[in-house]
Amino acid sequence: MQSLSVYRLHKLLVVVGLLHVRVNAQTSTADRTTETGEAAITDPNEECSPYSYPPVVNQLSAFPSIWEAASILSDDSAAQAKWDSISANIPSNISVKTQPPASNYSSDDPDCWWTYSLCTEPKLSGLPVDISAAPEPSTLGYGFDDGPNCSHNAFYDFLLSQNQKATFYYIGSNVADWPLEAQRALADGHEICAHTWSHPYMTTFSSEAAFAELWYSMQMIKLAVGVTPTCWRPPYGDVDDRIRSIANALGLQTIMWGYDSEDADINGQSITDQTVVTNYNNFITTASNGTFNFTGAIILTHELNNFTMSEAVQFYSQLKSSFQHIVPVGVSLNKTQPYVETNYSLPTFEQCKCPLRSRFEELEF
Ligand SMILES: [Zn+2]
Repeated sequence: MQSLSVYRLHKLLVVVGLLHVRVNAQTSTADRTTETGEAAITDPNEECSPYSYPPVVNQLSAFPSIWEAASILSDDSAAQAKWDSISANIPSNISVKTQPPASNYSSDDPDCWWTYSLCTEPKLSGLPVDISAAPEPSTLGYGFDDGPNCSHNAFYDFLLSQNQKATFYYIGSNVADWPLEAQRALADGHEICAHTWSHPYMTTFSSEAAFAELWYSMQMIKLAVGVTPTCWRPPYGDVDDRIRSIANALGLQTIMWGYDSEDADINGQSITDQTVVTNYNNFITTASNGTFNFTGAIILTHELNNFTMSEAVQFYSQLKSSFQHIVPVGVSLNKTQPYVETNYSLPTFEQCKCPLRSRFEELEF
């Protein structure tokens, strides 16, 4: 008897669900085939209902499974050729790491492993120093990890309303799921960097698998958006000289951060919503104190969910009051060609019409 009523309830829910879908189908006039159509959707539920974008869907068999650890596909001669061309220069004497760090890892941190010591100056010669601050004075290198998030239109609309550009570190698997959302970043004038294919701790991967994580995220951004990134951010900041050398061989500049909002780390115990508010406030106070008057800053924030995006909106005006300039990281680096393709450019830092605080305009440096 009990199972029968459960069955009936289930049937009822199915019917209600079908009605819901039918009502949505009748009332929705959204165009899910173009970037502008997708960007015009204001209902987050509608934004996050799946759609099929043929240019990407038709090529998915050329990529690793979405959200699974990447490896070079057996029939991918281009990826294999690229790996073969760089692998000889990837250090083989830097061990694959464990997470958390093993107790027998040398306290000298010979591999410049950020997770272990926050090291950002490689010990292996020939590698550039990681970017963990915007080099320009009183400048915030503004950016968000883990997108594209399917419900980001309200957040991107807000940035548009403020004429504010940022750097977005996109996960290849998210781009595959939400290619029109990824296209919006470029259409709105933001900068796109790679954030791997499936968001792993990169130092725990073999060199070939780490290569595949970077390679396929770059190829997916190229396929969906039309540009190939020249910058990346390691998930969890987990990078060492072995991973840096792979990224460097792929033409990717490693972008870290100096401050962490912890907006993606909420666990309800040691890190709560209030922790994030406190972190933002402390960062704003630090900026207001003149700490960044000679070298700017980068804070880690996310396009992960409604909370992280709402906090970004919430604190935007205070950030704007505390920094003279808020720009994409690439603009703070005067990196006018952010992609491999040369038909797209970013403004120089000087050209960028960055939000100015009137108080700063009167200050003399
Ligand atoms: Zn991330």
